[in-house]
Amino acid sequence: MIAVVVVRGGALPAGADETVAEAGGRALLIGDGTAAAAADLRAEVRQVEIVEAGPFAPGAWSAGLAARLAREQLVLLPASPDGRDLAPRLAHTLGRPLLAGALEVSAQRAVLARQGGLVAEEHPIAGPAVVTLVPGVRGVEPLPAGYRPPEPGVVTLSPGAAGVHDAEVVEVSPPDPSTMDLAEAPFILAGGAGLGSEEAFRTLEKVAGALGASMGATRVVTDFGWVPFERQIGTTGVAVDPEVYVAFGISGAVQHTSGLGDPEHIIAVNTDPSCPMMAMAEVAIVSDAPAVLTELAARLEA
Ligand SMILES: Cc1cc2nc3c(=O)[nH]c(=O)nc-3n(C[C@H](O)[C@H](O)[C@H](O)COP(=O)(O)OP(=O)(O)OC[C@H]3O[C@@H](n4cnc5c(N)ncnc54)[C@H](O)[C@@H]3O)c2cc1C
Repeated sequence: MIAVVVVRGGALPAGADETVAEAGGRALLIGDGTAAAAADLRAEVRQVEIVEAGPFAPGAWSAGLAARLAREQLVLLPASPDGRDLAPRLAHTLGRPLLAGALEVSAQRAVLARQGGLVAEEHPIAGPAVVTLVPGVRGVEPLPAGYRPPEPGVVTLSPGAAGVHDAEVVEVSPPDPSTMDLAEAPFILAGGAGLGSEEAFRTLEKVAGALGASMGATRVVTDFGWVPFERQIGTTGVAVDPEVYVAFGISGAVQHTSGLGDPEHIIAVNTDPSCPMMAMAEVAIVSDAPAVLTELAARLEA
């Protein structure tokens, strides 16, 4: 099994480390800035190859990687936006099935998340396949003491890549935090049942906008219909991995926090100082969350 990871500007996508770990430490990094990205991997790597191939070109890359990947029984990609784009093209070029949205993969079987994550379906693997792994579920074991990653091997795309037509990138706009995929959001302001009303979520949306953050929510809130389902963070929602996570009126149930990744900074506002979310927080503010939000909105003139 080998992990194929798309790199943009030296940055690894969400789920890269988990995919490499699930593939037993064998990885092929493709894109631009792959050497720097290989050095940033936080999973134990046994063998790594880098393909410096410039901007994302899934059509040309799948044609150019086909010969190299044909001898791999399982090709595993993170189910990041680029991984979800490249995976079906690789599956088509290699003439294999695509198993999308796996929680776990081995040579014999994949466990696939289905029905919005409510069902985990076991799927036997009988032959070669391409698989995408849902970020934020598996986690990664800590690196062993004294670990040194192997030197990357340099691979070039085979001539099959030439002449394959890909969309031409005219301009890359920075993502809009209010609409970007939460899985990729670096800064999230999330609200829970403690915000108490749909109106408070409109204020949360404005404050997030003023701070350049994305808005997230708990399942209780999406079940109320205060916020659309795609904003739900957790086991049955989106797995996120922001640098900063601010939780307003969220208790920190395991089904929520298991989808939180490993934020560098957590700030929580809650009336209950001993709830799990406050225990996880670097800054825990014991206060009325809607009132804090209203004050923030006023100060930011949101
Ligand atoms: C199979 C399954 C899957 C699930 N998947 C998910 C999932 O993907 N994501 C998810 O989030 N949940 C999920 N859940 C639900 C999860 O178990 C919790 O019920 C949910 O996360 C709790 O949401 P909450 O923190 O908003 O609400 P609550 O647990 O009700 O917590 C509300 C918090 O607000 C605080 N509070 C109350 N009033 C105020 C105030 N005025 N100011 C400040 N704080 C206040 C309270 O002290 C409390 O800590 C799942 C559950 C199951 C069974």
